[in-house]
Amino acid sequence: MNTRIFAPWAILGLLAVSFPASAAEEVVVYSARNEQLIRPLFEAYTKETGIKVRFITDKEGPLLVRLKAEGPSTPADLFITVDAGNLWLAAKEGVLAKVDSPVLMQNIPVHLRDPGQRWFGLSVRARTIVYHTGRVKPAELSTYEALGDPQWKGRLCLRTSKKNYNQSLVAMMIARQGEAGTEAIVRRWVANLATDVFASDNQVMEAILAGQCDVGIVNSYYYGRLMKKKPGSAIALYWPNQKTSGAHVNISGAGITTHAKHKAAAQKLLEWLSSPAAQNLFADGNLEYPVNPKVQPAPIVAAWGRFHQDRTNLAEAGRLQVQAVKLMDRAGYR
Ligand code: FE
Repeated sequence: MNTRIFAPWAILGLLAVSFPASAAEEVVVYSARNEQLIRPLFEAYTKETGIKVRFITDKEGPLLVRLKAEGPSTPADLFITVDAGNLWLAAKEGVLAKVDSPVLMQNIPVHLRDPGQRWFGLSVRARTIVYHTGRVKPAELSTYEALGDPQWKGRLCLRTSKKNYNQSLVAMMIARQGEAGTEAIVRRWVANLATDVFASDNQVMEAILAGQCDVGIVNSYYYGRLMKKKPGSAIALYWPNQKTSGAHVNISGAGITTHAKHKAAAQKLLEWLSSPAAQNLFADGNLEYPVNPKVQPAPIVAAWGRFHQDRTNLAEAGRLQVQAVKLMDRAGYR
């Protein structure tokens, strides 16, 4: 290792032992992930590096509005949010900077980060099929597309198309099979609905358990939460499209802001978040999957089995989001 490069860090390290972190040694984070999840992470980071992390939390929409409104005067160095569509939008709005980092390139699979290097996935959530274990045999299931088959007439429950999770799911279908094919499938889903769409993934699973429907589509961590709360519930996950495109995944992730005042420190934190040391803390708290392939998921998550994920770059979820929203509207998916 080149000591000329590492000498200044070594000195900082020594100072950190005897002095509180200076103003230069801090990172400011705007986070759409809740405090309960990120506080322990940042505390671990500060303990390890001496770099202080200040943060605010809010919903993803208001945080992006704030970043844009603050412009060059924003105190934010790092923006953390959920859903590739939101990250893509933040990049498009110009609030995220390009980051050159071999560490991020190595730790994060290529489909889970921006081809323009402005945002990076930090955890993976699969949006997959759930089914009632008493009324459905897993052998009857195969793909998202097949939920439009006549055998599911009056047996399918879906969350509203207003939720970006479903917008990303449909956008990725458009990316794979084009608009006409995707619209035909969404129309068949709508024709199979047992009841009106629901406001949340939880309500979809509650409806399945209550006998209103037999199959649905939810994010894996909601299933994990339900099974933690009500172990033994007659509902299971199914990994669809294993012989075709792979199961649809989305991410929570982050990017360094265009006007970051502590760019180097922010990059160091982002790289750390993608490292084995932090990945379990980041993913396990919400029963998600680490993005870093070297890191194993929590045992409760690992118990759901291995699956192939769709390797289409998640930038497509952003690029095709408006098209997906219009398509779902045309198809009568409310
Ligand atoms: Fe969620």
